[in-house]
Amino acid sequence: MSEIATKTVKAFGAASKVADLQQMNIERRNVTDKDVEIDILYCGVCHSDLHTARNDWGGTIYPAVPGHEIVGKVTSVGTAVSKFKVGDLVGVGCIVDSCKTCDSCKQDLEQYCLNGFTGTYNGKDKHLGMQTFGGYSEKVVVDEEFVLRIPENLDLAAAAPLLCAGVTTWSPLKHWNVKQGSKVAVVGLGGLGHMAIKLAKGLGASVTLFSRTSGKSEDAKKLGADEIIISTDENQMKSVQGKFDLIIDTVPYVHDINPYVSTLNINGTHVLVGYLGPLEPFLNSVPMILGRKSVAGSVIGGIAETQEMLDFCGKHNIVSEIEMIKMQDINASYERMLKSDVKYRFVIDMASLK
Ligand code: NAP
Ligand code: ZN
Repeated sequence: MSEIATKTVKAFGAASKVADLQQMNIERRNVTDKDVEIDILYCGVCHSDLHTARNDWGGTIYPAVPGHEIVGKVTSVGTAVSKFKVGDLVGVGCIVDSCKTCDSCKQDLEQYCLNGFTGTYNGKDKHLGMQTFGGYSEKVVVDEEFVLRIPENLDLAAAAPLLCAGVTTWSPLKHWNVKQGSKVAVVGLGGLGHMAIKLAKGLGASVTLFSRTSGKSEDAKKLGADEIIISTDENQMKSVQGKFDLIIDTVPYVHDINPYVSTLNINGTHVLVGYLGPLEPFLNSVPMILGRKSVAGSVIGGIAETQEMLDFCGKHNIVSEIEMIKMQDINASYERMLKSDVKYRFVIDMASLK
C-alpha cells in the first residue's frame, strides 16, 4: 500500500461486469505539490463508461467507477500549482497522467503516449498503485497539467460532454484539416455524433448525417446537419457515392464500413472512433486503391488540443444537448443508451450524490 494520505469520498461504481452500479466509498489522494482537488458538479455519461462497467473490451478492474466528462470547482491546490486557484471552474477529460517525456507527449499527443496514458478511470494510478476512479464521484484529484479551463460563457453542465465527446470528434476534424467548404459525414447520432455535427459546422464544413432510421432527422437538422442519409436505404446511399472528404464513424459495435468507404471522394478518409476490434465483413481494398481512400482510427485528443476545442466552443457558443439525470438513475440510463434513447448526452447532476 502507498504511504500517501487519502480521504474517503462517495462514488458510484460497478463491483463486477454483471452488477448494477451502486454507491460505494473510494479513496482520493490528498493534493501533492502539482495537484488540483476538484469538487465535481457534473459528469457526462459516455458509451465508453458502459463498455468499461460491463467489461465489453476486457481488462476492466473492479470496482469500476466510470466518468470522464468531468466539470467542477477547484477546492484545494498543491503548493507548486500555478495554473489554477481555489474557486476556478475546471474540467477533466479522459486522461489524468502520461509519461510527459516520450515523443508523443513532447508533441502534445498525450493520448498516444508511448508509455501509455493514464485513463481517468480503469487506468493505473501512479500515486496509489491501484486502478483510477472516474467522475461518478464527489471529488477528483488531478495533476494540474491535465486540468482544463472551461470558458465562462458556457453552461457548465452542457459543457461537460465536450471533455470526451467534443475532443474525440474535434481531433480528427482538425487532423484531417476540415475547413470552410469541406464535406464531412458523421455516422450515428449519439453523444459523439451530435458533437461531430456541431463542431464540423463550426469549422465551416457542409455536414451529412448517416443514421439507421429517419427518427432523428429533424433533430439532426436542428443540430446543423445539411443532409440526412438513411444508411439502411440503398438508394439514399447511392446518392452520395464519392462525395465526402472525411467520415467520422461513431458506431459502437461491429458494422459493415464498405458502404461508407464508397461514399468517400478521392483521397477521402473514413475515421473510426467508435468500434474497437476486427472489422466484419472484411474491408474491400479495391475502392481504397482505386480512389486513394483511407480507413483510419483516432482516440480522444491531447490536453492542448482539448483546451483549443474548449476555447473554440466558448467563441462559437457550442455545447452539448443534454438530459440531466441523478446519479441513482445511472443503470436505467445505460439501458436507454443501448437503445439510442438519449438526446444526446446524459449528464449526471452530482449534487444527487452528496
Ligand atoms: P452513443 O451515444 O450510444 O451513440 C452511438 C450511436 O451509434 C447511436 O446513437 C446510433 O446512432 C449508432 N448506433 C448504435 N448502435 C448501432 C449499431 N449496432 N449499428 C449501427 N449504428 C449504431 O455512444 P457515444 O457515447 O457517442 O460513443 C460512441 C462510441 O465511441 C462508443 O463505442 C464509445 O466507447 C466510443 N468512444 C470512442 C472514443 C475515442 O477516443 N475513439 C471516445 C469516446 C467514445 P443512430 O441511431 O443515428 O444510427
Ligand atoms: Zn468518453
